[in-house]
Parts: sequence; structure tokens; C-alpha cells
Amino acid sequence: MSRRVIVVGGGAAGLSAAINAAEQGCAVTVLERLPRVGKKLLLTGNGRCNLGHEGFDFSHYHGSVKQAEQILAAFDAKAYFRRFGLYTRTDSEGRMYPMSGTAASVLDALRFAAEQRGVQTLCEKQVTGLIPKNGTWTVLCGAERFSADAVILAAGGAAAPNCGTDGSLYPILRKMGYTVIPPRPSLCPVPTDLARVRAMKGLRVRAAAKAVCGGKTVKQESGEVQFTDGALSGICIFNLSRLTGEYGSRAEIALDLLPDIPVHDTVPLLDGLLSLRGNLPAGDLLTGLLPKRIAECCIKQSGGSCTEPASALSDAAKETLAAILRDWRFPVTGSAKFAQAQVTAGGVAGECVTGSLESRLHRGLFFCGELLDLDGDCGGYNLTWCWAGGAALRLGR
Ligand SMILES: Cc1cc2nc3c(=O)[nH]c(=O)nc-3n(C[C@H](O)[C@H](O)[C@H](O)COP(=O)(O)OP(=O)(O)OC[C@H]3O[C@@H](n4cnc5c(N)ncnc54)[C@H](O)[C@@H]3O)c2cc1C
Repeated sequence: MSRRVIVVGGGAAGLSAAINAAEQGCAVTVLERLPRVGKKLLLTGNGRCNLGHEGFDFSHYHGSVKQAEQILAAFDAKAYFRRFGLYTRTDSEGRMYPMSGTAASVLDALRFAAEQRGVQTLCEKQVTGLIPKNGTWTVLCGAERFSADAVILAAGGAAAPNCGTDGSLYPILRKMGYTVIPPRPSLCPVPTDLARVRAMKGLRVRAAAKAVCGGKTVKQESGEVQFTDGALSGICIFNLSRLTGEYGSRAEIALDLLPDIPVHDTVPLLDGLLSLRGNLPAGDLLTGLLPKRIAECCIKQSGGSCTEPASALSDAAKETLAAILRDWRFPVTGSAKFAQAQVTAGGVAGECVTGSLESRLHRGLFFCGELLDLDGDCGGYNLTWCWAGGAALRLGR
């Protein structure tokens, strides 16, 4: 008789694991708490699904599951999807997308592959408990019970709870003896002083951004920064959010609004603009360098008046303005929310699993995806970890 395998969670990792287990000859059932599998997948990459990244660099991953490095180094997302008839294309920054340009086609390719391999999917089944006994497992869904020889946990983290991921497995696993690193939101907007950003709401600017935590620069990114309602957003801010979340109110975001201009050229540049536009209102001084409302905020922050002629800016205000343009500080206030986060930092600790992601505490229990304490930067790294982890499991006999 085939080995009976239950996969808990029908997301990216769960579908990859289910296909893999079926290819190893197991009789596989996916238990998914929502009415359909893959809800989060449909939202990825703004509906286009950034499913991987060209090349391999483990520095884009964070967390205690160091075993992931070997698994990821051996994984090739392009080849993985080709096997299921899904072709990819890669953009100029190395991000890989399905050739169709739609996330739905990624989900479809996985669903077809699972169905063709005999995987059974049962939706609206929320797993509420796991009982190991004599080398087999009973999986509880409320009053309902399912029996299995092995269980794969792929229930995701706590980010984007509207996609079915409410972190409900963490307490169950803690009770079973697993170390769960406290989950926190990552790849999310960073909350800041509302008064500071209100006037710039809805604007975007290209910048170099630094996370300054406890007075030290801990990470730098560059790209488009968006000003939203009481927060800084954009991919480069998302990539800093894991760290600013860790440091809380001891963290700041520092923006360099002129990343393409050498720092020592800033004052001469302002002098040049002052000699050109000295008779115009100071609010127009930075026209062509920055969006108008952002330029006005910089002038006000430097102590200048936007309506007075630019030539009236004092030397002190000009110096402060130069400093703001290169190192504009935004305090981190309050905590980011899981509802706005793309991934979860934290989860089941690396020490709990072997190199092929089997439990070190219970035979026949496996983990993959965001449930584990490994999270990646923006750019397809998180989904890569889900496909690779699911495909790396060795179910045995
Ligand atoms: C808006 C958004 C955009 C993103 N874009 C990208 C991107 O372009 N590229 C990228 O690499 N990453 C992206 N991510 C991150 C990526 O989607 C996740 O890291 C990845 O989907 C996690 O996969 P998973 O299978 O581990 O968990 P999930 O996809 O979260 O799936 C877990 C599944 O388990 C189910 N479940 C949970 N608890 C239970 C239970 N107790 N019983 C039964 N079922 C349960 C859930 O309903 C869910 O369907 C994005 C995330 C979001 C929110």
C-alpha cells in the first residue's frame, strides 16, 4: 500500500510538497482551510507572481534555517516550472515571472501537476491538532480525523491573514515541543511620524534608504520610496522593514534623495540653483530634482519659507537643506501590521529540522515554506524557498 501523506496548507510550499510526495509514490491529501487552494499565490507580484530570481545568493535570506542554503543552491526555478509546462521570463533586475504574466497561470500549472499525480485536495478543512502514535499520525480538523503515515506542515506564517494564514499552527507546535521564533511582520511599510509624511502622501521618489538602528547603519537599499498614510513604503523600504521591526522605536529610516550626485557636490548644486532661481519662491528652488510637494517639505524642514524668495534662505537653512537632501531621518513609530506584510520573519526554528526538513522531534513529520524561520528579501526569494523546500522533502517508506 502507498504511504499516506497529509499536507497541511494548499499554498506555494504545500502544492510543491504534494507534487513531490506524489512523485515519490505516496497517496497524498492536501488539507486547506480556505474554500480554494493558492489564494495568496494569486496576489503575488501584483498578480504577476515573481516566482524566482536569476542566480543564487543566500545573503537575501534571513533566519535560523541555515540548512536552506544547500537546498536553495541546488534548486533551479526555471527548470522546476518547465517540468510542468510553465515557461518563465526574467526582467532586467533578475526577477523571474511566468511568461503569461499572470499569477493564476502559476497556480493552474501546479494544480494540474498535482491532479495529474493523483493528489486529493480537501478544502475548508482547518487543522486543529496533530497526534503521533506508533509511527502514524492522526490529523484533527475539529471533530473530523484523518490518518496518515507522514504529515507535511506547509501552513505558512502569520502575514496576510486574509489569505488563510493566521499563525494557528504555532501554539500547536509549541505544545508539541517545537521552538517557534516569535513571528513578526516583514516586507511591509515602515510606520513613521504621520505629521512628517502627511503632506507627501501618494508621492514617490528614487532614493537610497538606510535602516539606522541603535545609532548604526545596519542595512542599505536603493529604489523607489513611496510616502503613504503615516508610513514609508516601496520595495527598498520593505527590504529594511525586518530590521526596523526588530529595533522598534530605536530605529530610523534615513533617505538620500539625490543618490546619483556625489555628496560633496550638494552645496555647490544648491548654490547653482540659488543663483538661477534666487528670485523665485523657495518652494520652486528644487524643481527638476524632486517632486514639488517633497521639495517643499524639505525646505520647511530646513527652517526656510516656501513662499519667500529662495535668496532669503539663510546660510544655516541652506546647510540644513543640504543635510536633509542627503540624510533625511524618519523615526520608526509603532509596529508594522501582519495585515500589511508580505512575509513572516520567525517561525519554526532551524534546530527542529534536519537537512531535508524532517522533524528532529517526531518521525514522519516534515516542514516547508514560510512556517519555518526563514524569510527572504523582495525579488522572488520567498516563493523560491517554498518551491525548493517542498521539492526537497524525502518521504521515505
Ligand atoms: C501580497 C503579497 C505579494 C507577494 N508577492 C511575492 C512575490 O511576488 N514573490 C515572492 O517570492 N513572494 C511573494 N510573497 C510572499 C509569498 O507569497 C509567501 O512567502 C508564500 O506564499 C508562502 O507560501 P507558503 O506555502 O509557505 O504559505 P501560504 O502561501 O501562506 O499558504 C499556506 C496555506 O495554508 C493554509 N492554512 C493555514 N493554516 C491552516 C490550517 N491550520 N489548516 C489548514 N490549512 C491552513 C492557508 O489557508 C494557506 O492557503 C507575497 C506575499 C503577499 C502577501
